[in-house]
Amino acid sequence: MSEHKRLVVIGSGPSGYTAGLYAARAQMAPELYTGVESGGQLMYTSDLENFPGFSEGVMGPKFMWDLRQQATKFGAVIKDQLITAVDLSVRPFKLWTSLPTGVRADEYKQASAERLAEISAQVKQQAPELLADAVIVSTGATSIMLGLPNEMTYLGKGLSTCAVCDAAFFKQKKVFVVGGGDSAMEDALALAKFTDNVTLLHRRDSFRASKIMQDRVLQHPHIKVRWNSVVTEVKGDTKVSEIEIETTQPDGSKTKTSETAEGLFLAIGHRPVSALFKDQLLVDQHGYIVTRQSYTSAGLQLAEAATSAGLVQFPTMTSVEGVFAAGDVVDVRYKQAVTAAGMGCQAALDVERWLERQEN
Ligand SMILES: Cc1cc2nc3c(=O)[nH]c(=O)nc-3n(C[C@H](O)[C@H](O)[C@H](O)COP(=O)(O)OP(=O)(O)OC[C@H]3O[C@@H](n4cnc5c(N)ncnc54)[C@H](O)[C@@H]3O)c2cc1C
Repeated sequence: MSEHKRLVVIGSGPSGYTAGLYAARAQMAPELYTGVESGGQLMYTSDLENFPGFSEGVMGPKFMWDLRQQATKFGAVIKDQLITAVDLSVRPFKLWTSLPTGVRADEYKQASAERLAEISAQVKQQAPELLADAVIVSTGATSIMLGLPNEMTYLGKGLSTCAVCDAAFFKQKKVFVVGGGDSAMEDALALAKFTDNVTLLHRRDSFRASKIMQDRVLQHPHIKVRWNSVVTEVKGDTKVSEIEIETTQPDGSKTKTSETAEGLFLAIGHRPVSALFKDQLLVDQHGYIVTRQSYTSAGLQLAEAATSAGLVQFPTMTSVEGVFAAGDVVDVRYKQAVTAAGMGCQAALDVERWLERQEN
């Protein structure tokens, strides 16, 4: 038989745990599903130096463990399980936690959107394990990686996907940035404040970034650009120390060079973890879930439709009434631990007010 919950939180990054903490303190008895990556993206970082309140910094895994303990202390029930399917078409919402026989949870994480849809369809043939009056989606995002076999071993060890987070650790170091969009320009410029040895590697012979950002990069004395170049190997004992770069020459031939490298920053995009909600929640063209506070035209439209007496009602609500979203899965712009935690707080407060309105 399905268990009926007032609030289910999906995800255990800073937004999920903060939502769980606030919801528990507001007596909403939230049940939080951590997914495969209990603790979320910060489990991959050693030093978290930009979360307010930690003057000496804090280890990412310790920070996430403390946040989990804090949510538990106030009564959030935390389940180290995946949500494998949802039906958000009617309230109470239906959620499934089982996997088809033979499918492992770690495989589920790697599965393509098509495979996930198959798995969802299979598990939905059984009764849902959970019913929920409200849901907060905090499933986060993943950085797009180069696809090199060993790159994940260097994440947080010289290889970074967040210059805002890590640039300050690379004072006067030799660093490389991969990418050609605005994020890559921003990352190169952020690094150039700390070191005069930044090389931007781009696989084409022109950037797709805005003209103003390109100009800033191309004119910056600390930044060199290597066009038509891709990283083919990352090397190092315990951290990145060398990369291999393949450059396509004007005649189409390819040359390989090895470069010492103390830092490698990937700025080739993020992928929101939103496949589970495909065709059920409004998402933008990149898959980010749209809420009434999304910084996009779709978000503005949702906000406008939900404005009363000059106030946007329940800003963290998605296109489905009763389903809220927070953190990197909605955040097209900032993608920081503190912004994710802030949105988790907002979502829990919105749910509290919304549930009160439903129940009275
Ligand atoms: C290496 C690295 C270093 C970073 N360093 C910093 C830093 O120094 N400072 C900073 O501010 N930010 C940093 N960031 C960014 C920061 O980690 C993210 O902005 C933040 O973690 C986003 O939080 P979130 O709650 O949105 O989701 P995430 O942390 O992405 O967590 C998502 C959660 O959703 C769960 N989930 C997904 N699908 C399901 C499902 N189907 N069922 C149940 N659960 C599910 C996952 O298991 C995970 O727990 C770093 C990121 C990385 C990768």
